[in-house]
Amino acid sequence: MEVIIIGAGIGGLTLALALEARGIACRVYESAPAVTPIGVGINILPHATRELTALGLEEALTTVGIATAESCFYNRFGQFIHREPLGRHAGYDWPQISIHRGDLQALLYRTFIARAGADRVVTGWRCTRIEQDADGVTACFTCADGRALPPQRGAVAVGCDGIHSTIRKQLYPAGGDPIYSGVNMWRGVTRAKPFLSGASYVRAGWLTHGKLVIYPIRNNIDAAGHQLINWVVEIETPKFKQRDWNRPGRLEDFIGAFESWRFDWLDVPALLRASEMVLEFPMVDQDPLERWSFERMTLLGDAAHPMYPRGSNGAGQAILDARALADSLVEHADDPTAALRAYESRRLPATAKIVLMNRSSPPDVVIREVYLRTGDKPFRNIDEVISKDEILTLTDNYKRIAGYDRAALGRRAGPAGGRTSSPPESV
Ligand SMILES: Cc1cc2nc3c(=O)[nH]c(=O)nc-3n(C[C@H](O)[C@H](O)[C@H](O)COP(=O)(O)OP(=O)(O)OC[C@H]3O[C@@H](n4cnc5c(N)ncnc54)[C@H](O)[C@@H]3O)c2cc1C
Repeated sequence: MEVIIIGAGIGGLTLALALEARGIACRVYESAPAVTPIGVGINILPHATRELTALGLEEALTTVGIATAESCFYNRFGQFIHREPLGRHAGYDWPQISIHRGDLQALLYRTFIARAGADRVVTGWRCTRIEQDADGVTACFTCADGRALPPQRGAVAVGCDGIHSTIRKQLYPAGGDPIYSGVNMWRGVTRAKPFLSGASYVRAGWLTHGKLVIYPIRNNIDAAGHQLINWVVEIETPKFKQRDWNRPGRLEDFIGAFESWRFDWLDVPALLRASEMVLEFPMVDQDPLERWSFERMTLLGDAAHPMYPRGSNGAGQAILDARALADSLVEHADDPTAALRAYESRRLPATAKIVLMNRSSPPDVVIREVYLRTGDKPFRNIDEVISKDEILTLTDNYKRIAGYDRAALGRRAGPAGGRTSSPPESV
């Protein structure tokens, strides 16, 4: 019997690829009518690109996305605070990738159906409930108009169904409303000339008056050599709307905070005004769960551990979950319940730490420190405000907790069950 995967997002499709690489049959059930490129930019850190590399995807990732070269911090006056190399540029064996979420999802989807067959992903199937017995699971579905579809049997079921997870709600009917951080986000993409190195991940300003995160996610999108630039604005805002990745936002709700941001390397208000669209999303997370695995059912990715999108870890942790679950199913091939318990004990404590760390000390705490120490005024010399050592302590601490500091990653065993081949031509 096969593994039933609920949700063809980043986590569900990576799990499907990892199972296929290990010879375990699976089928993915997605509620959307088709896998279409939605979302804006995300970053995949080296510990997660390591897993995608093991699945034969590194070359395609660096073609479709951008191997991020450096992380840079500025204040809201455009004064430079700190720069550090990223991914291979920092000596890792794997790149950090900035990529359109839809491009990553499409890459995973096309690679999986090329390897496993198109019938292994079905769209337009919304899972409503999972039943289980001693021999397996039965997943129940409806189609878009609410009609019931035939129930599907499998050995185990994995809820990879994102922040509004139906499976999580089934397991925790009373539990866990989203917790608002007090910060609202607006996101978009703009076609523009490359800035700084052409592969820079920039964080500037601070949440009180407005923080900006920008990075390019597609190269050479036209004959003029423009890039698709992803931007995220974060501002402390008392009210928030229910989280919805596709909720449209309004430029006038935040542009005022950035009118004076004209740096010698970027005209910020012009970049924001030229955006192809504006999306609004509240920075919310949920308290870590005590358990993900219930006999033959478990959770993965955002369904298991929704976190603030502050440390570029949402997609990456889903990818790491997928590797751990695939390994556990191989190690406990005769006992699915033990496999899901082993997966949970590998991943739940690690992701819970990141959920909490993203609340208290995400990597952008560097710009918070500068904001506080300068009283939000321009500085004369950054070394008088904060030393290089202090900055490195702050950024290295996050890497350590989030599981991607270079020394530890190099020491850990390499990914198993992987491929070295490139993905098929069609990808
Ligand atoms: C439309 C969309 C846009 C996004 N945009 C961004 C973005 O711009 N930036 C960012 O950082 N993150 C974005 N994300 C979230 C990001 O992909 C995740 O945080 C991260 O990749 C973890 O992936 P995941 O697989 O756990 O969840 P997701 O990638 O969210 O995937 C969950 C999947 O499950 C499907 N699903 C949900 N309920 C059911 C059900 N009952 N039955 C069957 N299928 C179901 C969803 O349609 C979706 O395809 C977006 C997610 C979605 C769904």
